[in-house]
Order: sequence, then C-alpha cells, then structure tokens
Amino acid sequence: MDMKIGNTLPGGYCNSLTEYSRWRTREVTIGDVPMGGDNPIRIQSMTTVDTMDTIGSVEQTIRMVDAGCEYVRITAPSIKEAHNLAEIKKELRRRGYHVPLVADIHFTPNAAEVAARIVEKVRINPGNYADKKKFDQLSYTQTAYQAELERIYAKFAPLVKICKEYGTAMRIGTNHGSLSDRIMSHYGDTPEGMVESAMEFIRICEDLHYYNLVISMKSSNPQVMVRAYRLLVEKMVAEGMNYPLHLGVTEAGDGEDGRIKSAVGIGTLLEDGLGDTVRVSLTEEPEFEAPVAIALVNRYEARQTTSSVQKSLDIGQRPHPSPLPAPYVAAEVNAFIGGSIVPRVVVDISRKNLKDPTILSDVGYKYDILLDKYHMGEQSVDFVYLADNLPSFSMPGNLKQLYDYQTWLTIKNKANIHPVYTLGEFIEADLRDANLNLVRISRRDLSTPLFEALPLDKTVVFVLETDEPHGMADQRLFFSMLSELGLENPIIIRRQYPAPEFSGPQNNLMDPEEPLSKLQLYAATDIGGLLVDGMGNGVWIDAPTIPTDKLVSASFAILQATRSRISKTEYISCPSCGRTLFDLQETTQMIRSRTNHLKGLKIGIMGCIVNGPGEMADADYGYVGAGPGKVTLYRGKEVVKRNVSSADALDELIEIIREDGRWIDPEIK
Ligand code: SF4
Repeated sequence: MDMKIGNTLPGGYCNSLTEYSRWRTREVTIGDVPMGGDNPIRIQSMTTVDTMDTIGSVEQTIRMVDAGCEYVRITAPSIKEAHNLAEIKKELRRRGYHVPLVADIHFTPNAAEVAARIVEKVRINPGNYADKKKFDQLSYTQTAYQAELERIYAKFAPLVKICKEYGTAMRIGTNHGSLSDRIMSHYGDTPEGMVESAMEFIRICEDLHYYNLVISMKSSNPQVMVRAYRLLVEKMVAEGMNYPLHLGVTEAGDGEDGRIKSAVGIGTLLEDGLGDTVRVSLTEEPEFEAPVAIALVNRYEARQTTSSVQKSLDIGQRPHPSPLPAPYVAAEVNAFIGGSIVPRVVVDISRKNLKDPTILSDVGYKYDILLDKYHMGEQSVDFVYLADNLPSFSMPGNLKQLYDYQTWLTIKNKANIHPVYTLGEFIEADLRDANLNLVRISRRDLSTPLFEALPLDKTVVFVLETDEPHGMADQRLFFSMLSELGLENPIIIRRQYPAPEFSGPQNNLMDPEEPLSKLQLYAATDIGGLLVDGMGNGVWIDAPTIPTDKLVSASFAILQATRSRISKTEYISCPSCGRTLFDLQETTQMIRSRTNHLKGLKIGIMGCIVNGPGEMADADYGYVGAGPGKVTLYRGKEVVKRNVSSADALDELIEIIREDGRWIDPEIK
C-alpha cells in the first residue's frame, strides 16, 4: 500500500537534532524478517566465497547467521550464479536456516531477473544497472537525458514486475564511486548526484506501484556518505516517501581504521535516528562484521526517546541553523591551539610513571637515551594533561603541558605550560596565562550566571564535556548555541569513558565486546559525528582503563576518518565477495607493509575489475584484480598498467608512485 508522509522534518534531515528518536520508515517485507517501521535495526553482511561453491557459501552463511546476521547477501555476477542461489537456499533450508538471502547485482539485469524469483531481496546499483558504458560522456542535452531515462525504464521495469509478482524486496544501492555518465554530467561526483541516482529508480518503482524498497548511499568517505544519506532523507520526505535506510561505509578497510571509519559514518547517522539496517564492510572474514554492527546498534536500544537535552532546551533554540553543515573549517582564533591548521590531540598521562621519560613513546615522542632527545612522528600528540602531577624529567620542547589551575600557579617556568580551569576558577582567577587558557564547560553551563560572568578573550579554549546519554547531540547543541552567541573560541571535544564496560583485558581487537573495540566504536561515533560536520578544534578521549598508546591511535584514526587531520596512508580496500580474484586480507597486509609510511596517500585495493575501479572512489592509486594472478594498476581513475603479474604488481605500483614524485624511502629503524 502506498503511504505518503508529511513533507518536512523538524530536524531537517531527522526527527530532532537534540532528542533521540528513530525516523519512522515504512515496513518492508523481506522473507520472514521485516525491516523498517517498528522493527529493530537489522544486521547484515555479505559472503566472500565463490557463489558457485554451494557448500562453501552455505557454511559461510551459517557462520554469519551464528554471528548475528539477519540477512545474508551473495553476489550474482551472471545468470549461472543467480541460478545457483536456488541450490544455496535449498541447502540452507535443509539445514534449518531460514535467513533471507539477498542477491547482489552489478551490470547484469538478466541475473537480477533470475535471482528475484529465488531469493527474498535483490540489490541493484543504479549507477550500473542499465549503463554499460565506460562512464566518459560528459555532456547531455535535455532530450538526450530524457531518452536515457526512458531507456532505463525499459530495462528496469521487468525486474520490478518480477519483484512484485514474487514478493521480493529490492535495495536501490547507490555507490559514490559508480555514478552513471548521465548523473555525473548533471551533478558531478557529489552527494546530490548519489541521491538523484537512487531517486530516478525509486520513481520508476513507484510508477509501477512497487514499494518494497530499501535505499543506501554508500561511500568510502564518511563525510560524503553522511551527507548523502541526510540529503536522501530530505529529498524523500519532500516527495512523500519514507523507505528504510541501509547504512554502510564501503571499502572501510580492516582493523582499527576499518572499525573507526565505519563507526564515524554509520554511528553519526544512528545518532540522528536514521538507519533500519546496518552492514559494516571490513577487509576481514565476514563473520567479524556482524558483531561490530551489533555493538554500534545496541547503544540505541536503551536511549530514551525524550532525553534531558531536549527537556532542558529553551524554547526556540535549535542546533546548527543549516541541516547540512559545510565541511570542516576550524575557527581561526588561537594560534596556540593551531589556528586554522588541524584539530589538536590531547591525552591524559597524569596516572603514568612521571619519573620515566620513555613513557612518552606512548604519546608519539620516542626518547633517545644516548642523545638525550626525543624524536617526533606523524602521530605525536600536541598536548598532554598532567592534572596535579609534575614529571621529574624535561618534556620535549614542542609538547605542550596542561595542569589543573592551582598546580599551574605553583610552577615557576611556565613556558609551554598552560592551565585548565573550571568555570568558577577562571572567573575568580587573579593570574591567567597570557597565551592559552583551557576552560572546562558543558552545554548546561551556557544558561547559567557563571557563563555570563566569564571574561572571554582570544586566549580561551573551551574543553567541552558532557554526561548526557545522548552526548553527541548535547555537544552539537553547544556548538550551535555558541555560534548563535557570536563566540568563536576553539573547542576541544572531550569524551569520558569511565564505565566498567571499558575495563578488562584488551587483547582481541576482533571482539566488539572487548573494551578497546567498544571504545573505538563509541568515540568514533561521539567525536567523529561532530568532526564530520566541521565542529571541533581538538579531541580528548579519556578512558583510564585503556592503554594510552591506544587512545592516541584512536584519536588520530578518528581525525583521519573524518579527513580533518591526515597522519597516515589511507587504504580503501573492499571487503571482498564471490567476485574477488586474490586474497584481499593478505594482499592488503603486503601493500600496507611497504607503503604505510606514505602519509596522506590513498591506495585502493579492490578484488575485481568489474566494480573495483568505480568503488575505489577518490583513491590516488589503485591495485585491482584483473583476472587470476593478474592485477591492473591505476593512477586515480586512469589505467597505468594492465594485467601485471601479481608477483610484480606491488613493485610496479611503487615504481608508479616513485615516477610521480610521491614516494619516500621508509626510515630505517
Ligand atoms: S570490488 Fe571487491 S567487494 Fe566489490 S564486487 Fe569487486 S571483489 Fe566484490
């Protein structure tokens, strides 16, 4: 049944920017596991074995279901694989597994039409369902554009009719890297283009009275992805639609970076109450993905629908006037915190052994005993917080130290040493620092007489704290209220994770129940959600039970994922699937081992030539599987070497980087 909704949302792209509530979508039938409406946020993932390997696919699917997957997607690159989905389904049912299956389709409408008769859902990519060209036509007349739309209608309508007849659901899954020529000609490679790409297909479905749809807007860049989903919701609402959202960051990579990048994109949208199903894409075994998705989603089970953030708001106050904020721009106020350069990293070392200079290696300063000096790296923190504890060794010249105000007063030589105040202390202070004063504050303080009495000047940097359950929204509101007051003081986002769930062993990064994994996911959501919207001049993650070096690494990874501070090489590696032509995990590790010192370079590592080049989006270089034992190398979107033997491919890639003048010899340690 068609169901139209109102054409605006109070929060712009979500119900509210201050209180947590899920945007209510229409319920979609997918086998026995409905999605959207009042259903829980569903967890899903995709197999990586060859779809023609029936037993391999069945066994991997079972491992994924046992890990928490509620839907399992399987690639169907051609009719042959589409037919084999029936065998896989039969065997799964025989073994008592009734998980709905999803066929993943790129370029092959004929495979989609077979699969739609077998499985519970088909995923199509609107960028390549009906477009087989090489994505190089740059201009379209209005007539040519219209003719393309008619051609798509003719190609797509048969699948829609089959889905209607068989009760099959469909995901219209746009990817940032594979937009059609038609969309690129009008919108470029933009979130607006991604949204329109899906809307063209949704409108055809609606014209044929088919509404069993789920939509996604994936990108490997969380900033692009977040913006595209928010725009999509605005657009859908304006057109009276409320299809469920499938959230995901593509080609997120592996390990810490993969988890943090995924959490920045997916977590930010979950905070907004958007999302009906989540797929985390890691270059790891697929059964490792569902637990990460579950850890992200579970945070919202207990979140109140009316939080104190909303209750304590003055009438008329709304966060961030623009529902789609501009990309990161740091306030150019206080040179000591970095002016317009990059957000700063603060870490607490007050509980460490302050008699031992080697402890600073955890914060990126390696002490050389022979030379009695420190070596800095790309991930050396900018500030250390020592509370009231004085070290008995000299600190590196470029590391700034922060002390609680009363202790700061007692320190004679205050070069590179700055005070941290409570609001009351700052107001009462007889002596203040001439350059930099950090004042702890929360959003609630803004409406108190203390805040009105604050002697603000350009030396003040706020350390923004929150104890609200819906903390990201609470801090977002602070940014908005401060900007409404016309204040531009830099803000360090501080999040504290003292809870027992962050205590315990930290050995297994693969386990999202592990305190460190949880911290990475939570901090990336809470702090990354602000940084993707351009809010924040510094990050300070406080988790006393997590090792300091891990806090530093997570801080830099969050800054890298939000593209607000680049400190390492970025790997855009696909999660692999039945099309993959080499061992992605092994290859990614091999490439990483030789290139991980190339700060700022983005290297795409893609399993197949069919989707890889499109999906590696804005990578500087690409290493793409072209056939068994063969790799094609890319510079941006341009093929540089075709079908290189995989034994030589990494050397050849390094040679291309060298020719471009972007290679640096690694430091010998
Ligand atoms: S790029 Fe990777 S995940 Fe995507 S279709 Fe190719 S092999 Fe599969």
